[in-house]
Amino acid sequence: MLNFAVIGNPIKHSISPFLHNFAIKSLGLEAFYGRYELEKSENLLNAILKLNLNGCNITLPFKEQAYQISDVLSDDAKNIGSVNTIIHKNGKIFGHNTDFSGFFLSLSKFKNINKALILGAGGTTRAIAYSLLKNGIKFDILNRSSKNFDFGASRFLLWSDEISPQYDLIINATSAGLNDNELPAPFELLSPLVAKSKFAFEVIYGKETPFLSLAKKHNLEISDGLEMLVNQAALAFELFFDTKFDLVKEIMQNSLKFKS
Ligand code: NDP
Repeated sequence: MLNFAVIGNPIKHSISPFLHNFAIKSLGLEAFYGRYELEKSENLLNAILKLNLNGCNITLPFKEQAYQISDVLSDDAKNIGSVNTIIHKNGKIFGHNTDFSGFFLSLSKFKNINKALILGAGGTTRAIAYSLLKNGIKFDILNRSSKNFDFGASRFLLWSDEISPQYDLIINATSAGLNDNELPAPFELLSPLVAKSKFAFEVIYGKETPFLSLAKKHNLEISDGLEMLVNQAALAFELFFDTKFDLVKEIMQNSLKFKS
């Protein structure tokens, strides 16, 4: 019996155990996927060893710690600087990142994106920025506070900057709207940018956030973070069990019909 889990804090809301266990059952595999709320002061490596995990997914706020404890990093995880999928094999921790390709695969329904604006400058922005860079899409970043690196953006903008509406796609990669009712930037700044855009991508899933409501009001084509979540989960599953991505994605997508 193989053991897997998603580790984060908070973790109650995560649907990863549902998606993975559904796929495990459907494919007749001998494994179980649980969830573990790691105390912020706790050591991630100790938890992986204590729980006897063969692999795990890592979420907020431990992706950088996951990167630090990895003995071997995939090229993408190394470039992004964060790890969301760990394989524990032969006494070694192998760190991967499936967020970036999970994001890009879910963008495919939006055609002809010349320039994007990413709202936020945290771990998810790193993965999204890497994905846009790798695929030749120019982007700016807008965050409420400055950072000491630019994520490869053409411009790193703050709320106090003058910003002309010039983006085909606006991505909310902040956690604004997750546990509150906030927009990711002040309304007066964001509204004209959204009004001139064609597409809006929200990384949060399972609710209509203020950002999605604003995008709907301006008739943009929208996507929430559910497909990105399913993609990153199916990519992680492929690493855990050496299965085919397309098959697992279909199983996980179908499983959502049974989710209450
Ligand atoms: P981080 O904590 O690393 O970064 C959060 C970012 O949001 C920071 O830039 C922060 O600004 C900004 N922010 C937080 N609150 C506000 C606010 N009220 N107004 C404006 N900006 C705000 O988080 P992550 O990057 O790891 O996660 C971000 C979101 O992405 C979460 O909601 C997470 O659930 C979601 N996510 C979804 C995935 C999916 O598959 N759909 C996968 C991974 C993440 P500052 O830098 O100034 O603090």
